Amino acid sequence: MDKKTICVFCSSSDDLSKKYYLLANELGSLLGKNNYNLIHGAGSIGLMGVLMKSASDSGCIVTGVVPERLNRPNIVSDKHQKLVITADMKDRKEYMRKNSDAFIALPGGYGTLEELLEIITLKQLKYHTKPIVIINFDGFYDMLLNQFEVFYSEKFTNESYKGLYHVCTTPNEALRYIEGYEPKNIYDKYLKE
Ligand code: AMP
Repeated sequence: MDKKTICVFCSSSDDLSKKYYLLANELGSLLGKNNYNLIHGAGSIGLMGVLMKSASDSGCIVTGVVPERLNRPNIVSDKHQKLVITADMKDRKEYMRKNSDAFIALPGGYGTLEELLEIITLKQLKYHTKPIVIINFDGFYDMLLNQFEVFYSEKFTNESYKGLYHVCTTPNEALRYIEGYEPKNIYDKYLKE
């Protein structure tokens, strides 16, 4: 059977506390040990760079997907088994969405948040039904998750959409969730078939 491919969204910053790099390293090596391949943003920098190296060292095929404008030697690693250069960010995210079996968000900034929210939104609109996991390491995403609670309590978002994503705290839990994932019909009256 083909190996499953996991797309990871994560920080491009080289200026974080050590604990975040250790986390990215742990996820990368677990991906290989658990027989997954990796798709990510192609960066050699930040958590992306650490993740890519540990995933590749542990046996993953790593595909980097980068828009033309970011394809520069100081940003993009030349160590990918496969490098996909897209016209723009939109095509990049589409490639990631279509070619991945699951999505994980590690801590990150605006880029990570944008990728995470788009993949959640597209699942809400039933463009895909793949698993999405937020690794809320050390409470990093507590404030964002609190904001999500406001969406539900104020009825901006139907409470059933909590099922669009799964929140956990470790890479191991994230992979266990993905292994056991079955899509559920969480859709409201407009998208229920
Ligand atoms: P950020 O969370 O703002 O650091 O952005 C990281 C996310 O955005 C990654 O998942 C990448 O897909 C994308 N990204 C941001 N900056 C870069 C970069 N310099 N090279 C490659 N991808 C990047």
